[in-house]
Amino acid sequence: MSQGQKMLESAQALIRKTAESMKLGEEVINRLIEPEFVHEFAFAVMMDPKNDENTSSTQATKKFKVFKGWRIQHNSALGPYKGGIRFHPETTREEVQALATLMTIKCAVAGLPFGGAKGGVAVDPKTLSESELQRLSQEYVKKIAHLIGEDIDVPAPDVNTNSKIIAWMIDEYEKIKGSKSPATFTGKPISMGGSLGRTEATGAGGVIILKALLEKLSSKFKVQSSKLTVAVQGFGNVGYHFAKLAAEAGFKVVAVSDSKGGIIKINPKSEILTSKQILNSNDQEEKVKELKNRQFKNLLDQLGQLEIRNLLLPLDIPLIAECKKAKGTLAGCYCAGGVCDLKGGQTISNEELLELPVDILVPAALENVINEKNMKKIKAKIIVEMANGPITQEAYEYLTEKGVIIVPDVLANAGGVTVSYLEWVQNKMRYYWTEEEVNEKLERMMKRAFEVIWKKSALKKIPLKQAAFEVAIERIISALQ
Ligand code: NAD
Repeated sequence: MSQGQKMLESAQALIRKTAESMKLGEEVINRLIEPEFVHEFAFAVMMDPKNDENTSSTQATKKFKVFKGWRIQHNSALGPYKGGIRFHPETTREEVQALATLMTIKCAVAGLPFGGAKGGVAVDPKTLSESELQRLSQEYVKKIAHLIGEDIDVPAPDVNTNSKIIAWMIDEYEKIKGSKSPATFTGKPISMGGSLGRTEATGAGGVIILKALLEKLSSKFKVQSSKLTVAVQGFGNVGYHFAKLAAEAGFKVVAVSDSKGGIIKINPKSEILTSKQILNSNDQEEKVKELKNRQFKNLLDQLGQLEIRNLLLPLDIPLIAECKKAKGTLAGCYCAGGVCDLKGGQTISNEELLELPVDILVPAALENVINEKNMKKIKAKIIVEMANGPITQEAYEYLTEKGVIIVPDVLANAGGVTVSYLEWVQNKMRYYWTEEEVNEKLERMMKRAFEVIWKKSALKKIPLKQAAFEVAIERIISALQ
């Protein structure tokens, strides 16, 4: 089964389970599950001319490549469809549909007057030149221009798309329509009507929710954010801003990764304890040697029997970001800030990052990364789903049963669509807020969304994810005609 199919089945199963527990009829359940429109198309993009040996430089050959694209409009009960556009080689119809379904739930959870949609193109943008990427973005817009509009369907960036790509798209859209329409896309550059605070909004919203959760938990348990360790998978828009803002908020961000792997910084002075007794000093030395010898995988496997205090040191996130910009990947950045090999800097794989002994795990890359293969090795007590659908249904059930608190994607990463909504409002009223005003509104809206879900979860003794789906479904069915 493809990753997209898996994510779609998880989202639909959760809607069905929640709706059935709310005693909703089959017709209503179908309206919540089935997308209103599925647009699937193919389009040709002209590739850069290539001069081969047999042609003169004036006879460069023109080549076209065909790509598959989608725009899926899932549900519009609460307002115009809203959802990002993803460029990824593994994007499929099922994946786009799953993400559109999650957008319907997310907009309802966040209390926004939007329905859910998603767009995607099956393409590896890393294999395209800048002008090929621009032409691909323009051709995609030609296919969806008649489907979108500021009060119909409002696209935004997602994985591998950004404000620059949105600028190309909106230029093309306005050319087709013959008029300005900034509110038709969000995530635009500021110069084209984008909102201040949009770039960091998803990460910022996640940190607001994490802090709100810990405030609730601190009345039950003694938790101090400055003592909590965090590992973040994915160092793109969402992962980077989450890591940076979490570190600024006082959390110890001890591991980050991108598609090529991650980095940690091992504390040579960490105390190694067994569950019963402190190991004798010789054993301690051996273990520290093991750490330095990069046998990290072995050590991780032993963590069932060992308890290690202060194993990982906090990373300097802005410095690592600068290094990634210069080197292109994180893997070469374990020396950033003088944290070189001998001082404990290490590269780790993405799988190892997920299994680290941290308090809070933040998957902020792609879907289904926590699944039946690794669920038993997850050690975090809290998982904040910053990516969409990072935990499979099976792993979700296993971890919830084990008492792991999972902050669902539809709440945790709703900061992005919330500031997209604020961007849309500013475009429509042609009046623009300062960054402080946007951030203050984001914080208020995220806290309000969290509070409703927390209360539902506590009242009905159900996990946060189920509570979020229930709140969303209540809001959607109250608007269904
Ligand atoms: P991005 O393209 O900016 O970054 C993705 C990051 O994930 C990159 O650092 C990449 O190297 C890394 N990555 C890719 N494959 C990986 C792998 N196999 N293992 C580990 N890391 C890997 O994308 P983004 O905008 O940061 O989106 C990340 C996730 O957050 C997606 O699931 C997206 O749908 C979700 N999301 C994004 C927004 C937004 O505003 N950008 C809003 C809500 C949800």
